Amino acid sequence: MDFKGKTVIVTGAGKGIGREIVRMLAERGAQVVALTRSAADVEALRGESGCRAIQVDLADADATREAAIAALPADLLVNCAGTTELQPFLETTVEAFDRLVAVNTRAPMIVAQEYARSLIKQGRKGAIVNVSSVASFVGLADHAAYCASKGGLDGLTRVMARELAPHGIRANGIHPTVTLTPMAVKAWSDPEKAAGMMKRIPVGRFAEPADIAEVVLFLLSDEAAMVNGISMPVDGGYMIA
Ligand code: NDP
Repeated sequence: MDFKGKTVIVTGAGKGIGREIVRMLAERGAQVVALTRSAADVEALRGESGCRAIQVDLADADATREAAIAALPADLLVNCAGTTELQPFLETTVEAFDRLVAVNTRAPMIVAQEYARSLIKQGRKGAIVNVSSVASFVGLADHAAYCASKGGLDGLTRVMARELAPHGIRANGIHPTVTLTPMAVKAWSDPEKAAGMMKRIPVGRFAEPADIAEVVLFLLSDEAAMVNGISMPVDGGYMIA
C-alpha cells in the first residue's frame, strides 16, 4: 500500500498504536498530521520527517475542533486516541464516564466532522478509520465507561458510513484485542486477568501495535474501496472463542 502524496491525520499519535500507525504511514510515503497531548511526544513527532504535530487535549471539545481545523487539508483520517480508567460498574463515577466519552467518542466525531466538511467542500474523496475495541462487543469487568464509550464510537462509525459515503468518504471501525502498549499495561497488569484474556485468544498471544496498524492502513487504502461501515475485529479470534 502506497500513501505517496496523501496527507493523513492521526489522533493519539504520541504513543502505542497511534505512534506505530504514524511510523508505518511515513514509511509508505504519507505526510502525517499528528494530534496528541504530551509535549514530549509532540516534540519527538516534530523531529520525524514528513510529520507535523499539533498539541491538543481531546477532552476539550473547543480545542479539539480548533486542532482539527488546523490539521486540514487532509486526505485520510485515523481516530486512534483513546483512554481508559478501570472502575467496577457500581463505582463508575460520572466524572470518569464523561472523561472517557469526551475523548473516546466525542473527539472522533468532532475531528471527523471538520475533516469531512473540508473534503466535501473541495469535492474530494476520503476514508476514516475509527479505532474502537473488542470492548465494544463484550462486557469487560471494570470497563463500564470504556465499553460504553467504544459502543458509542461504533454507532458514530455506522452513521458516518451511511451519510458520508455518498460524498465519497468511507468510514470503518477496527476492534483490537489487548495490544502491547502503555494503555494495555494500565488495563492488563494483573497477571491473573491477563492470563484469563490470553486463554480466550486462539492465536495464543496479545497483539503488537504493528498488527493493528497494518489493518488500519488497509482500510484507509484504495484497495478497500468497497469496504464501508464495518466493525473489524483484529483479535486473533477472540470473538469466536
Ligand atoms: P496508549 O495509551 O498507548 O496511547 C494513546 C495515545 O492517545 C497517546 O498518545 C495519548 O497521549 C493519546 N491521548 C489519550 N488521551 C488524549 C487526550 N485527551 N488528548 C490527546 N491525546 C490523547 O493507547 P493505545 O495505543 O493502546 O490505544 C490506542 C487506541 O486503541 C485507543 O483508542 C484504545 O482505546 C484502542 N485500543 C487499545 C487496546 C490495547 O490493548 N492497547 C485494545 C483495544 C483498543 P498522552 O499519553 O499524551 O495522553
